[in-house]
Amino acid sequence: MDSEKNILVISAHAADFVWRAGGAIALYHRRGHRVRVLCLSFGERGESQGAWKQPGMTIERVKQIRKDEAARAAEILGAEIRFFDTGDYPIQPSDQVIQAMVEEFRRYQPEAILTHSVSDPYNPDHSTAHELTLKTRVYAQALGYPAEGKPLAAPPVFMFEPHQPEQCNFRPQILLDITPVFDIKRKAMESMVAQEHLWEYCTDLAKRRGTQAVRNSGRKEIKYAEAYERLYPQVTGEFL
Ligand SMILES: [Zn+2]
Repeated sequence: MDSEKNILVISAHAADFVWRAGGAIALYHRRGHRVRVLCLSFGERGESQGAWKQPGMTIERVKQIRKDEAARAAEILGAEIRFFDTGDYPIQPSDQVIQAMVEEFRRYQPEAILTHSVSDPYNPDHSTAHELTLKTRVYAQALGYPAEGKPLAAPPVFMFEPHQPEQCNFRPQILLDITPVFDIKRKAMESMVAQEHLWEYCTDLAKRRGTQAVRNSGRKEIKYAEAYERLYPQVTGEFL
């Protein structure tokens, strides 16, 4: 195994990290690395259709249902998870949440950060999560910013694939082979009962990205993949 790495995943809503990065999380966990998810919102208004169809539902019950589902999914994938209750439609991070996120970066010292793409016209909370991630990452780097822990270096930011990538100006730059852990991702997806309509959608997407991964690498053993886009240039001493 490589030396242990820390991966930090910032998810706008309760299930986003499962659909979009569940394979990466399971993969890194299986390799012995530490993965931590920061979940900004339970998605209680916008992404809990299944829960709201049940009779007598209340906002507090929806939040608890989504929290339980996300905690279960994180456990299946092998990630730690911390919930911030920042509201939904819109996510409105308080000064305390911003401070807590800066301290997460400084204490956890992630080697890689995964979060939402720059824009998502289908859900502005995803853009908010992206902006908040970049903002707090930069604050955590600044020597003069008052927060616990040592200043952050410059971990790369990988943006996960939105549901309708063309509308979000998302260009896949990385196709991550998740074939060895796809069964774990599928199991985690199935724990998100309030959004059952996405199980097959995300399975089909993983197959399609897997086919593209074969096309781009010649590695015929790849069956499932997740797409990512880099925000900052890759720094390397060699092309291959
Ligand atoms: Zn979302």
